[in-house]
Amino acid sequence: MDTETRLRIADAIKEDARVIHHLVIPERFYQHSMSRPADRAVAAPAGETDLGLLVLAHECGHVANDDDLPHRERLPLVKQEIEATAWAFDRIRHHGGIVTAEMEKNARHALYSYTHSPSDLRADPRLYPFLCGGITL
Ligand SMILES: [Zn+2]
Repeated sequence: MDTETRLRIADAIKEDARVIHHLVIPERFYQHSMSRPADRAVAAPAGETDLGLLVLAHECGHVANDDDLPHRERLPLVKQEIEATAWAFDRIRHHGGIVTAEMEKNARHALYSYTHSPSDLRADPRLYPFLCGGITL
């Protein structure tokens, strides 16, 4: 994907999630990305690179999934994380983008960091096979 394609997909994904506010943060600070679903707001890279687009789409996934509503906040964190990532992959592909092996690897590593116990692995049936590389989301 070229930069123009990624930015077009980024705009479409923000619209899908009904994101109103996007604070663009430098890509090198991508680990500080976050979302505020109640405000339809994200802080994330612009989406000019594969990693930036993945992170932005993931944060939009938290907004789309309304992850600050009480019934969602009660879910295990790792379940919210895998659902936001699955949403991101789905939307990138829906808009004609490609989820590369590198993007999957980055997502896998991020999900590892949210996985602390066997019960976390049971939080979502996709998590363990995805972490093992057995499935794509
Ligand atoms: Zn997240």
